[in-house]
Formats: sequence, C-alpha cells, structure tokens
Amino acid sequence: MKQIKLKGKDIFNGTQFLGSENVLIADQTGLILDIVPTAKAGDDVQEVDGILCPGFINTHCHLELSHMKGVIPEHTGLPAFLTQVMQSRNLAANNPLVIDKAEQSMWEEGISAVGDICNTTDTLVKKQQDRMYYHSFIECMGVADAAASQRYEYSIGVLNSFREISGPFNQCSIVPHAPYSVSRSLFHLLAATPNNTPVTIHNQETAAENELYQEKTGAFIDFYHHFKMDASAFQPSQTNSLEAYLPFFQQQKIILVHNTFTSEADVKFAQQQPELLYWCLCPNANLYIENRLPDIPMLRKLNCNITLGTDSLASNHQLSIWEEISTVRRHFPEIPLEEVLQWATSNGAKALGIQDNYGTFKVGTRPGIVLINQHSKRII
Ligand SMILES: [Zn+2]
Repeated sequence: MKQIKLKGKDIFNGTQFLGSENVLIADQTGLILDIVPTAKAGDDVQEVDGILCPGFINTHCHLELSHMKGVIPEHTGLPAFLTQVMQSRNLAANNPLVIDKAEQSMWEEGISAVGDICNTTDTLVKKQQDRMYYHSFIECMGVADAAASQRYEYSIGVLNSFREISGPFNQCSIVPHAPYSVSRSLFHLLAATPNNTPVTIHNQETAAENELYQEKTGAFIDFYHHFKMDASAFQPSQTNSLEAYLPFFQQQKIILVHNTFTSEADVKFAQQQPELLYWCLCPNANLYIENRLPDIPMLRKLNCNITLGTDSLASNHQLSIWEEISTVRRHFPEIPLEEVLQWATSNGAKALGIQDNYGTFKVGTRPGIVLINQHSKRII
C-alpha cells in the first residue's frame, strides 16, 4: 500500500513535540508506520502547513442533544438551563440527520474517540458505523429514593441495547448523572454494578450543587418543586458535593466532568480516595451556561489528570476539541500548548481506557492524523 509521508511545522506525538525535522509515515488507512528524521524519509514527502497531532479524544459529549443547538440562551446558570433542557429535549429529538451532521463535524475537525452520554438509544444506529470510537455512558438519574431500583432498571435496559454493539469501536457503562439528581440508594446501585468502567459524573457544575449538599437550600430546591420531584429523603452532608458522593465508589476509574466550582480542598479530599480520577474540562460549555471557568491553575498545581470535552450542542456553539483548547489558551496563556494537547489526546485516551489504540502516534495504531494551524482539520 502507498505510504503517506507528512512533514509539518512540528509533530506532537501525544506526549511531546518532536521538532520540525521529522516526518510522519502512515499508510492510506491511517496506520502509523514510523516517525523518522527528515534526512531518512526519502522521496515524496508532503509538506503541510501546521502541527501534526494524533486524533483528539472528546471525553464528554451528548450527541443525542444535537437537535438543541441554539435553543437555550447563554448565561442562565445551570438550574435554569436544566429546566429548559428537560422541557424541550423531546421536541424533535432522535433526528438522524442532525446526529449525522454533528458527528461529521467532530470527524472533520479531528476527533477520533468520544465519551458520549446517553439517556436513550437515539445514537445507537450512528455508533454502529465503526468510524469513530465511542464509549457510551448510559446516564441514570432519580431524585426520589423510593424510585431508585425502577430508575436503575430502566437505564440497565438502555445499557443492554448498547452492550449488543460492543466491540472494537463501542464500549459502554452505566453512570450517575449528577450529585443533585441521584439519590443515595441510586448511588449505591450504580456503584455496585460489576464490570462497569469507567464511571463519569457531572461534578460541581454550579454553586447551587454545593449549596444543596451544605444546607439543602438554593436553586435546586426550587428545581425539585418545579418538576414535583420528591427530595424529602435527601440529607445534607454539610460538605461540598464531591466529599459526599465519592465514597460511594471504590477503586473505580471516574471521570469528573466540569469541576467549575471545585475547590482546592475538594481536590485534596478526592486525591485521598481510592478511585483513579480524571478531571474533564468543558470550558466553552461552562462559559455558555455559567459564564465561569474552573480553577485550572489549581488543578494543574495539584497534578490532576486533565482531559477535555465539548459537552453538547445545547450548551456549545460547536463540537470541537480545538475550540476548547483555544479557549483554555486564551484565558490561561501561560499553560504550554504541549500540555493542553496532552489533555486532548493521550490523557483522554487513558481516561476512556483506549490508550493502546488512540491518543498517540504509536506504530501499528490508527489514532487519526490531525493538522493544526488556526483551526484543526483531519488529514486521515
Ligand atoms: Zn454534560
């Protein structure tokens, strides 16, 4: 098969920059064959204008909400945002053309693997295409403690549908939605599910979540009343939410998503627990909903494993990991590009457990090849 030899301004191999005098060699299917010094690359080297990078890993998306692009205004805060999602998510849902279009844009801008939240089987057909890798996180929620087993059984039904397509391009697990939407009994059921990895959860996306756990007051009480949810069994832990729910889990791998209101004390507590933690940042969604960013300098200082996600088109203008990287760099220019690219590639792959096949230019893998200049664009 014909070899493709690519020389860019630099090569980022998933871990580090290799310098401009290197050539990436792949076959036409994207199989990585070698990286060699320019002097040893021989003929037919194509010069490309930008940095060569492995395909991005989007560790938090909701492909099934793609029809909600532009429906909800920006800066409402999370409780009001969720109210609108719940009231309008079923309008025009499960439109295969909208899901196709959203996936196509992820593909073109260079995303190779996605951790995708599912409440329904709306994305099942798309995911059988075996083009991008999906870890489908089947999301379970239920505020009323008495309904926990009923909610769990419903989500296990959805999980079983996704298990039927398990294979090299599809894996799945059942996960809690968020600390404010999952009862104690439901946390116990989810944490006890065997062979269920990784787990993910929306963590501390709004100040109201910590207020609920501290004092059982605030915007989530109004939210429960609005939807006639029975939160009478909820007991405030008088701690932040993370301290209250993390001990339900044992030695699982957990991807904590958003972390917009996570404090240094929260992280230090979490790091003493037995779980292997990844901290997924979705900066554009945080700006869209809460107009605030997580304390990224603090997460870096405490050596957190950081990954990046796009969240959904309900809370973002596009599904582009490069746009997330650009937002991080705009707000925190002191963070080296090399480090943010690690979050977007090899760290994301480790979080999803696919580091043997994705996130680096390892010989013998097909991680996708992306060209970065002002934007990012898939080459293969
Ligand atoms: Zn989300």
